[in-house]
Amino acid sequence: MLTNHNDNSCSEYDLVIIGGGCAGLSLAAAMCRLAAKPTHVPSTLIIEPRLRYTDDRSWCFWEAGVQPGQAVHENTKLVAKSWHAWEFSSGSVSHLQSSVSGWKYHYIPAIRFYDQVEKQIVRNKNITLLMGSRVTDVNLGDDHIEVFFESGPSDSLYETQKVVGRQIVDTRVPESVDLGSALLKQVFFGFEVKLNSPHQFDDVARVMEDMRVDEEGFMFDYVLPLNRNSLLVEFTRFAEKPLSPDSLRSDALKSLRRVCGDSEFQIVREEAGVIPMGLNNPVASTDPRWIHIGLGAGAARPSTGYAFKRIQRWAEQCAESILSEGKVRRFQPDSASLMWMDKVFLRTISGNPAIAPQLFMSLARDVPPDSLLRFLTDRPSTRDLLAVTLALPKLPLIRCALAELFAGMRTASRTQSWHEVR
Ligand SMILES: Cc1cc2nc3c(=O)[nH]c(=O)nc-3n(C[C@H](O)[C@H](O)[C@H](O)COP(=O)(O)OP(=O)(O)OC[C@H]3O[C@@H](n4cnc5c(N)ncnc54)[C@H](O)[C@@H]3O)c2cc1C
Repeated sequence: MLTNHNDNSCSEYDLVIIGGGCAGLSLAAAMCRLAAKPTHVPSTLIIEPRLRYTDDRSWCFWEAGVQPGQAVHENTKLVAKSWHAWEFSSGSVSHLQSSVSGWKYHYIPAIRFYDQVEKQIVRNKNITLLMGSRVTDVNLGDDHIEVFFESGPSDSLYETQKVVGRQIVDTRVPESVDLGSALLKQVFFGFEVKLNSPHQFDDVARVMEDMRVDEEGFMFDYVLPLNRNSLLVEFTRFAEKPLSPDSLRSDALKSLRRVCGDSEFQIVREEAGVIPMGLNNPVASTDPRWIHIGLGAGAARPSTGYAFKRIQRWAEQCAESILSEGKVRRFQPDSASLMWMDKVFLRTISGNPAIAPQLFMSLARDVPPDSLLRFLTDRPSTRDLLAVTLALPKLPLIRCALAELFAGMRTASRTQSWHEVR
């Protein structure tokens, strides 16, 4: 069992965070950042199975320009690379976009984030990060919550231990949540490579490159020029059926070879994952003392799969609430209009994968970049929503909107009859 503080004899905490990944560490970092004094942070235990952090992923996100004099968010310091322009392409057509008000596409290597938060935690005696430990059970009592966990390498058997928390933030994907039931699964496999000679790409983030369709559905490449000699190349599918990221390795290698052309390269690291798009049954927090966050709680935006900024927003709000009122704060669902639009969008793609490239290309061609960015980052105005709607192909969209309306009515009538039976 590894902890950041030598004295780990405490067994009672104000807050227990289950999982020291993006959401768990973001909350710890936000508490450290926002507390007027380190001692104002409540006694917190983070329980994480990993023994050490590795550079297992990268987080990219769009952010509006920072105005002169405006405080720079902590995460901005972690950004390794930013792009002023991004591109969507399909066949021989490409659309280059950039923002008139300073939005950029940012890239954070996960290891920078993990290292920074570990340092912040080490400096705060009220937060303990317990690594190599896995939570096995949570027991809700009237005045406290028991958290059971096992420590040690996963192939060894260790005695179960218990801590008591007043509140719990749970970042695991609960067993009751089936990520495979999402309308679509964004499945990807990628490589960061170092080339022996400079690549030929200009400084543009190719966020949806070479969009295409085969009998298994919609796919594209994701190509980020990190510096003159380094690229991140990922192959992505929007899959209806569950698909393992490892099954995409050979496709990802093909994309990599295509992108690198004749240049020789070494693979520096790999990253892969599955992000649910349009989760049917995200876990809901039923007791205000035990809240859920992360991919199982709907942290990924249904229509895009982007989750990092949404997790940061929640972490900031939750930390503020903990420090001012002593209460954890749930992840806020999207507005009803945005949720509805995302569902119609996803239904359109899953029902008609063949038109997906045309659909994304229409958005890139016809929606003003800043409107599209506000839509993609959860902050669209009514005008932005209108611009997005007008850019999409009408007939399949209307058909899917009607199907969504019908599905909503069926759910409502089921709920009603369930209440009637009771
Ligand atoms: C490879 C990859 C790249 C991504 N890139 C982007 C991106 O560019 N932009 C974007 O917006 N989103 C991206 N995402 C989506 C999302 O931002 C990440 O998945 C993010 O890490 C989600 O945060 P989380 O805290 O929910 O999950 P995680 O970061 O996975 O954290 C969950 C933690 O819970 C721990 N845990 C699991 N079981 C237990 C247990 N029993 N007890 C205690 N702890 C447990 C895990 O070890 C893990 O550390 C990416 C996802 C992946 C997988």
